[in-house]
Amino acid sequence: MSSIETLITEFSRLPGIGRKTAQRLTFHLLAQQAGQVGALARALDAVAERVHACETCGNLTEEQPCAICRDPRRDAAVLCVVEEPSAVPVVERADFRGRYHVLGGRLSPLDGIGPEALRMDALLERVRGGAVQEVILATNPSMEGEVTATYIQQMLAGLPVRVTRLARGLPMGGDLEFVDGVTLAHALTARQEVG
Ligand SMILES: [Zn+2]
Repeated sequence: MSSIETLITEFSRLPGIGRKTAQRLTFHLLAQQAGQVGALARALDAVAERVHACETCGNLTEEQPCAICRDPRRDAAVLCVVEEPSAVPVVERADFRGRYHVLGGRLSPLDGIGPEALRMDALLERVRGGAVQEVILATNPSMEGEVTATYIQQMLAGLPVRVTRLARGLPMGGDLEFVDGVTLAHALTARQEVG
């Protein structure tokens, strides 16, 4: 495959980018000065090389542990469980001051994604560590998000930890990523204990 074809294929793997847009992006880049293309290539290289999952919470970071896990002003007794790192900035906008646990996805039996594919064991370990008093389930308002939340609720049953769920009212079927800060702040404040 030619290098142009390879780039078009790589672009078309991105969300929301069809073959046509991928072609447009590729030819747009090729029409730019070489320096500009080099800058993009270096930026991609840099994130690929430096950004990793935080060993504690699973959030994306350039340092271990991440800035949120390291921050002593944040409440280590409250863990907010989200599916993807992209949900963290959304919960941050809702003024959450605890810490996170990023699962790295959601349970989806139809796609063959079981608990072992997610950071479930790490969550259990953190809760068993004893410092966590509340786990807030902030999985996406979708069918799979619900299944994932229910699984965690059952996994933590019997442990001395309060398990809460974001209040209902978030647009169902959506992604936390697209919920605005104010709406999420309400859902967070009105969270309810489950199980
Ligand atoms: Zn972290």
